[in-house]
Formats: sequence, structure tokens, C-alpha cells
Amino acid sequence: MVVILKRDPDKAQVESLMHWLESKGIDVHTTVGKNQTILGLVGDTIHLDIDLIKALDIVEAVRRVQEPYKNANRKFHPQDTVVKVGNTQVGGGNLTLIAGPCSVESEEQIVEIAKAVKASGATMLRGGAFKPRTSPYSFQGMRAEGIRLLGIAKEITGLPIVTEVMDISQLPLFENVDVIQVGARNMQNFELLKELGKMKKPVLLKRGLSATYEEWLMSAEYIMAGGNEDIILCERGIRTFETYTRNTLDVAAIPVLKNLSHLPIIIDPSHSAGRSALVEPLSCAAVAAGADGLIIEVHNDPPHALCDGPQSIRPEVFEGLTKKMAIIADTVKKVYAK
Ligand code: PEP
Ligand code: MN
Repeated sequence: MVVILKRDPDKAQVESLMHWLESKGIDVHTTVGKNQTILGLVGDTIHLDIDLIKALDIVEAVRRVQEPYKNANRKFHPQDTVVKVGNTQVGGGNLTLIAGPCSVESEEQIVEIAKAVKASGATMLRGGAFKPRTSPYSFQGMRAEGIRLLGIAKEITGLPIVTEVMDISQLPLFENVDVIQVGARNMQNFELLKELGKMKKPVLLKRGLSATYEEWLMSAEYIMAGGNEDIILCERGIRTFETYTRNTLDVAAIPVLKNLSHLPIIIDPSHSAGRSALVEPLSCAAVAAGADGLIIEVHNDPPHALCDGPQSIRPEVFEGLTKKMAIIADTVKKVYAK
């Protein structure tokens, strides 16, 4: 349920309404906008007397929220959420460019790629240390050592680092990590999501391989219900009948999620396509559709990459891509300018 307050409401009356709601076991989330203040009510609101609330002097309107996600719902929080990561911001009109290898392979590799993508305008560095591989015989990542090496690349370049967690037990290693990635295969690892809800660190939440928008937002809700509201959604392609591409990029997720939620959404064209030649056209489509950013796999030697070489682009290709994205982002702003 959301309670929309009138302009400049009497503070004492607002407080007494909030105390009354809290006494009924309802959590109240207040969003103060330019023109409106909205109280988002989370909890068992079924027995609340809507007419009683509507009749209050300070109340403009009361609406029931049908969707099961509340904190992640645009109705609760009409303004876009902007997630701060180091000196950069995700959402709010910024184009976030996260780039780096699928996996950290050595200090030399991660530092070389980090320097190259930074020079091309990347705003964050990605690199997997814990890798969810389909085969137990494939490279599983450098694990703790991989996170240490990402830390070195961060120190040298100043780029914030994004890396994936696969299990709660790994979280103590993530202190120096700026954004914790939840991979597609873990989108519904609810115990992990609850633990991330207790942390004060941004989370990049990838869409599950066959997850609906609502299931994806419910996973965001798990994290937000714990108090962590810094979530970046990431569409990374879904399972369809098509086998030519690794997954099918669902571009519609961008406008749909922007409508349903206030959370920023970025696109991963690398895992969507599984083919390096498709990374640029899919990136163009994503930015044109209003994505807040991209996360792209960049490798200095794709044929010898230990993971996802066929979908990795070289640093010089990334450089060309960033220039094109800047042009598209600029055009998009003009096209949608009010
Ligand atoms: C990755 O980003 O390297 C990764 C494993 O992604 P996803 O969870 O989307 O498959
Ligand atoms: Mn990968």
C-alpha cells in the first residue's frame, strides 16, 4: 500500500500516522520527492482501514500495491534510484561501462586489461574469481587469490571492482570489493540474498536463466527487505529455443523494468550473445533502449582465455565500442528530452 501525502503536510500529523502504522507492525518507507512525499507500507496491510487513512488532512491518496514486490516497486519510489560506487554513479542518466575478463587469470592479465579498459572510459572493472561453471572439470576461478589480484588492479587504476559471489561462506573475502555480483545461477539463492541484504555494499543482480521479471524483482526484494537498497539489475540473456546465440537478449526488459521498478538496469551483451561479433550491435540496442550501462567481457588474448574466450572482445574493440556508445547515449538523451 502507498500513502501519498499532500504538499507540505503537518509534521506532527505525519509522525502520528507513522507511529500508528508502526504500532500495527507495518514498516514505513518514506520517499521525499520534489512535489510529493510517499509512504510505502510493507507488511500485512490487509486489515488497515483505507478510508480512515484517506480521511486524514495530510493524505492526498491511498493505493493498494498489487505486485508482491514493494521496495523494488516504482509505485513506492517514483524517482530513479542512483547507486553510488566509489566516485561513479549507476543510474540517473549516467552510462556505466563495466569491463574486464570473464575470469581473473594472473596479475599481469588483470592489470593489463584494467589499464586498457580504463583508458577507453570504463567506469568499473569486472573479473570473476569464483566461477560457476557447467562442468566441474572446467577452470573454477582463482578464488581468494583472484580477489587479491583484482585489488591490485583497483589500486593501480582506481577502478572500482565487480566480482561474483557464489556462496555465503565467501563473503568475508569481499571487503575490498565494490560491487558484489550475484550470477544468473544464484538469482534465487534466497539465503545468499538475505545475507546480502544485511550488507552495505551495492549488488549487481543478474537475471536467472529462465526467470520472469516478477521473479527477478522478487529476488531484488529479498535484498531490499534486509535494508540494502543499492541494487543494479542486469539482463544477461534468457533461455529460448534459439541455439545460434548462447542466450537471447531480452531488450524489452529495459523499458519494462524501468516502468515496474526504480532500480537501474544494465545489460550484459557478452553472455547474451556468446559471440564477440554480436557484442557491439547488442550494446547499441541496449543503450538505445535506455539501459543505464553495460557489463562487457574484454580479454587481451581471447583465443587463450580460460573462460568465455569466444564472447570476449579485445581492448581495442572495446575502445571503439565506448566511442559509439557515447554517441548513442547522447542521442538517446536528446530524443527523450522533455
Ligand atoms: C559472468 O558474469 O561471468 C557470469 C558467469 O555471468 P552469468 O551469471 O550471467 O552467467
Ligand atoms: Mn563469463
